[in-house]
Amino acid sequence: MIRQYELIEKIKSYDPDADEDLINRAYVFAMQAHGAQKRASGDPYFSHPVEVAYRLTDLKLDTASIVTALLHDTVEDTEVTLEDIEAQFGKEIRGLVDGVTKLSRLEGKSENSKQAENFRKLLIAMSEDLRVLLVKLADRLHNMETLKHIKNPEKRQRIAKETVDIYAALAERIGMRHLKDELQDLAFAELYPEARESIVRRMEFLRAQGAADLEKTVSIIRDKLADAGLPHAEIYGREKRPFSIWKKMETKNISFEQLSDIIAFRIVVNDIQECYQALGAIHAEWHTIPGQFKDYISTPKPNGYQSLHTAVLGPGQHRVEIQIRTRQMEELAEMGV
Ligand code: MN
Repeated sequence: MIRQYELIEKIKSYDPDADEDLINRAYVFAMQAHGAQKRASGDPYFSHPVEVAYRLTDLKLDTASIVTALLHDTVEDTEVTLEDIEAQFGKEIRGLVDGVTKLSRLEGKSENSKQAENFRKLLIAMSEDLRVLLVKLADRLHNMETLKHIKNPEKRQRIAKETVDIYAALAERIGMRHLKDELQDLAFAELYPEARESIVRRMEFLRAQGAADLEKTVSIIRDKLADAGLPHAEIYGREKRPFSIWKKMETKNISFEQLSDIIAFRIVVNDIQECYQALGAIHAEWHTIPGQFKDYISTPKPNGYQSLHTAVLGPGQHRVEIQIRTRQMEELAEMGV
């Protein structure tokens, strides 16, 4: 369990002006409120709000968010009232805790996808303050990380499904890509453990074949783009996540043996003309994979998304996916509309 001083030190590392006294008071308040309550894991219940708060420090959130995370289950699960919260921590914190409590009460009420869509809309409308949503997402992340302790399999499945349909989708919409990936993969492990295991094993095999050498591939692409007059192009490489690979296998009907591309690259340049220039340089160097080229610059997606997508047999004959876009397109794609 994370100690009080560890939490404080972490916050101070990115926010030296954080209100240490307020955080300490919230820590003690929540600890006393949850008292002897236990989690399904047998851990003291209080370890949960502390873990949620700690996850928010990874996002460098402000004092009020951290305090809200510490208090987030007190109104729902203990004798504490919103009036108590306001008296102790002020109006701002009361508002935030109230928001999280309301969202928690909506859970488990979305049986089909139509309801899930309504639930998502409701969540967004109810969380006028983005911090409410972030506390809720961190709450769900920790609950997913400890899901295995819940004994009822149907309950685990329902929570995992809700996580994909609602929370991961929300995280994506507000541009929290890392959170989205974590939530999806944790849910994937619960919903389709065998499929996930097969993908993870295949990824290990491909990695051993050198198919995931990100740095080397980035530097080769960088050289080719520099030769083509684009020395300033930014190149980002990442290994794909098991869940997104699974989604793609499903929609494209790919078998595990056929699964070959596990890394993806993004090239960010200054303007649209440079996008096509970069695409030309890539296609001149490596064989393209038929049917993989999509021009979402001349024909944007309905949500406004723009990029060039292609896939080539890259260095070492390993299949790689590449997206090419301008800085402005990048901001839109990452941050949402
Ligand atoms: Mn909670």
